[in-house]
Amino acid sequence: MNVLVINSGSSSLKFQLVHVETGGIITKGICDSVGSDTSFIKYGMYEDEQVVKVDLPDHVAAVQKVLELLTSGDKPVISSLGEINAVGHRIVHGGNYFDKSVIIDEDVVAKIEELAELAPLHNRAAVQGIRACQSYMPDVPQVAVFDTAFFQTMPPKAYMYPLPYELCEKYGIRKYGAHGTSHRYIAHRAANMLDEPLDELKLITCHLGNGCSMTAIDHGIAVDTTMGFTPLDGLMMGTRSGSIDPAIVPFLMEHEGLNTDEVNDLLNKQSGILGISGISNDLRTVTEAADKGDPRAAMAFEMYSHSVKKTIGSFITVMAGVDAIVLTAGVGENSRKMRSMIFAGLQQMGIRLDERKNKLRGFERIISADNSDVAIIVIPTDEEFMIARDTFVLVRDMKRAAENQE
Ligand code: AMP
Repeated sequence: MNVLVINSGSSSLKFQLVHVETGGIITKGICDSVGSDTSFIKYGMYEDEQVVKVDLPDHVAAVQKVLELLTSGDKPVISSLGEINAVGHRIVHGGNYFDKSVIIDEDVVAKIEELAELAPLHNRAAVQGIRACQSYMPDVPQVAVFDTAFFQTMPPKAYMYPLPYELCEKYGIRKYGAHGTSHRYIAHRAANMLDEPLDELKLITCHLGNGCSMTAIDHGIAVDTTMGFTPLDGLMMGTRSGSIDPAIVPFLMEHEGLNTDEVNDLLNKQSGILGISGISNDLRTVTEAADKGDPRAAMAFEMYSHSVKKTIGSFITVMAGVDAIVLTAGVGENSRKMRSMIFAGLQQMGIRLDERKNKLRGFERIISADNSDVAIIVIPTDEEFMIARDTFVLVRDMKRAAENQE
């Protein structure tokens, strides 16, 4: 089954055409700067990668152009749209409606639209992508895979905020989590690498990139996570503050004369590693500066590692133990120095990093010492694979059910 995976960001649209049975990626690409006059599409595999400058006023136009590129040119990727058997969409917010991936129908679209209040740019873009696919491929089944669904298993003690209950109810204020597809993927891969069933493991999964989140997964079930009502909560990130004393917000608004948009911008775009270092949100640049003796860069690095370390401790107590800690995304996969700092001093807790293995680069790898009670694993995330897989399973089961009824 060929599944077209569509990941609509606020101003981008990533796509991947996957042959699910073999796991092979047929092609992939990104529509960048959608909605601006500098939009372009980068697509193709390896040496065949191409960049085309195209006008993409919105996500409908982006889908239309992607479908055109797949089926046209000197070397079309597919001979016709008939070779796309299903479409899987990444949806950022599924609210309390969705605890798993679903086949898209009008009711699902209406709920995604309704939830746009919680993720305005992303959910609206996703609906545009769905509508465009419906109009160009009306008979092709589409599936919605939600970033939040994985966290719907959390108990109220983990997802509620201690605010007036009525207000939480009225506005749906609770922890929804984010990066769910990534956490779910690396949890499955970690269980596979450890050769243990996922439902017999206690895992802490760490998605450490520009956005950062951690999840406690107890016997296959998410029991706590760091991102909250929005993806601003939790760990310190590239440009986001993560959790801070909430009283700082009205204090800054009053003393700096900031309105809500300005304070949102400050917390989401001017804080985190960028805010502290004053140099960059990119940890590579900040690491270099810290190595050269820049004190604020060093502080940003230490604060980042401290916020991960502290959360490991709190999730171990939440689950009364941990079998493996799994790291992914830009920082988790690539920063040897950050991993060293996160796991430094945890030997007494049975968590021992092997510095020799920590230097290894490449694909999935276990980097804990042989005598570590807790495995430390690095796994490159693959959200697109997970979306393709969910889409495949749902569409296959739907077709089987239809056949059985005939
Ligand atoms: P992501 O959001 O997963 O794409 O991660 C992006 C972030 O990963 C970048 O902003 C960098 O801070 C970080 N990153 C990528 N490669 C490295 C590296 N070799 N060392 C340190 N940080 C890295």
